[in-house]
Amino acid sequence: MKRYIVGIDENIETVCTDVLIIGSGIAGVYTALCISENVDVTILAKEEIDISNSALAQGGIAVSLGEEDSPKFHLDDTLFAGAGLSDREMVWHLVNEAKDNIKNLVDLGVRFDMTGGVLDLTKEAAHSQRRIIHAKDFTGKEVCDKLIASSKKRKNIKLLEKMYAIDIIIEENKCKATIVLDQKTGKKILFKSKYVVCASGGFGQLYEVTSNPIIATGDGMAMAYRAGATLTDMEFVQFHPTVLYHKKDKSFLISEAVRGEGAVLRNCFGERFMHNYDELKELAPRDVVARSIFKEMEKTQSECVYLDISFKDREYLEKRFPKIFATCLNLGIDISKDYIPVAPAEHYCMGGIKTDMSGKTQIKNFYACGEVACTGIHGANRLASNSLLEGLVFGKRIANDISMNHLKEKLDDKQYIIDDKGDNYSQPVSEVEKRIKKAMNSKVGIVRNESGLLQAKQVIDKTLQVLDQYKFDSMAQIQTINMATIAKIVVAAALKRTESRGAHFRSDFDQPDDQWMIHIDNTRKEIDDETFEFND
Ligand SMILES: Cc1cc2nc3c(=O)[nH]c(=O)nc-3n(C[C@H](O)[C@H](O)[C@H](O)COP(=O)(O)OP(=O)(O)OC[C@H]3O[C@@H](n4cnc5c(N)ncnc54)[C@H](O)[C@@H]3O)c2cc1C
Repeated sequence: MKRYIVGIDENIETVCTDVLIIGSGIAGVYTALCISENVDVTILAKEEIDISNSALAQGGIAVSLGEEDSPKFHLDDTLFAGAGLSDREMVWHLVNEAKDNIKNLVDLGVRFDMTGGVLDLTKEAAHSQRRIIHAKDFTGKEVCDKLIASSKKRKNIKLLEKMYAIDIIIEENKCKATIVLDQKTGKKILFKSKYVVCASGGFGQLYEVTSNPIIATGDGMAMAYRAGATLTDMEFVQFHPTVLYHKKDKSFLISEAVRGEGAVLRNCFGERFMHNYDELKELAPRDVVARSIFKEMEKTQSECVYLDISFKDREYLEKRFPKIFATCLNLGIDISKDYIPVAPAEHYCMGGIKTDMSGKTQIKNFYACGEVACTGIHGANRLASNSLLEGLVFGKRIANDISMNHLKEKLDDKQYIIDDKGDNYSQPVSEVEKRIKKAMNSKVGIVRNESGLLQAKQVIDKTLQVLDQYKFDSMAQIQTINMATIAKIVVAAALKRTESRGAHFRSDFDQPDDQWMIHIDNTRKEIDDETFEFND
């Protein structure tokens, strides 16, 4: 595997900034806003600024505000969902710092739904209390719009669209610069910075069917891995149980909040079935509901199941879930009368770049935040509505760390030259991408086993072997190599974990095994790039 994907020479344009943030989702922009105003911050987005997983979030943000709730209950629910692999100390910070960060959002102008003068709290699966604050069913858009608008007003923050980060340059284990492709000119730019915060989101696009938008190709994880950072818990991929299943749209999410408000699941015969799988029925943890739907679809030989909220008033549904109501109606589904066809789809990755409680990775001055990071909070399975919160809490912690230390750091004045070997890759990458997605969807999905994982490994290894010999210059090509790199790591970790835990279900090892109460760390080594270390 190449250390750097592209070469650079002495003529490359160089831009200097104190802090470079890769990503304009909630993690990236909130971090930027929390950094002191005397620090110069540049945010990059590979597409338009408002295209992110964050902007698509519907359900809301978890915070224990109810009279009968407490951070301790939120902690217990998070640890329970994490199936023994969540880091208790990290979760403790998450639940105790939630309220202050939500107050910051409200101060920045985010308008959450209110009832009787207080924030309205809804319920989601595996939460023991009503604790999800929301803005109708477009919470992510409301939050992102307000964060982006606030950052545009700040003199120390620059937001740059269509800027694709490719690799970070490291010297003596310290992050010095980032190679970026300016998609508007096709030219490479070297961003020199005291700090890099990677907030580039997840890798949903590794799968054929996902709720994630096009930006989610695992770039940040791949660049961190090439640079020597550790990726942890990569086998734990969350599948959302209820993504719309319609010939015109197989990626639109039907939020868990719909089940929180009473919706039930029915099979193709119109029968309820969740009671056959779990006593919590529709409100069981996500992995349980997704697997139950998968089994029910197999049992009834059907491609989807149905979500039924038709017993609620049309007026209520239009008001509480305006986006879901309108999107479904556009496709001919009136949710106040009709069942909604749904099937599980890839949704979230619990694993990522290993960080400590200040968002630091093993590479000095290189932080990771949001879905790209693995703080250890989610363990083997994320509790609904904890991920936007994680971006806020750890974004603030990173910002504090940078604001306190930035005066001690200097910008580097070295010139970097990186050789580029191999011929130009001239074939379209779309076919390669399709092969990866197909292998991931069919063999590395909700239910896995050794023979399927080995088949996926074969496809991905072969792809990487071929790609490794070439030079790349377009975003599509670089994304493909990043996707293949991350797919290889997910498959290897899934093969290694010979048990079932949380979102990782192996039909050939269908029970949890106490020996596996450990994390799988994946770190690139120069000679043998298939190395694993275990930690508990
Ligand atoms: C449909 C949907 C609904 C969801 N609902 C909820 C919910 O209700 N509550 C909840 O807590 N969570 C929810 N989630 C999960 C949550 O939205 C994400 O985990 C979270 O938003 C991730 O935020 P982020 O800032 O880390 O990444 P993102 O929001 O995904 O942002 C990633 C950013 O990185 C940029 N980027 C990526 N690669 C590069 C690169 N190479 N160079 C430059 N820029 C790059 C992208 O352009 C983008 O700006 C939902 C997710 C989806 C998909």
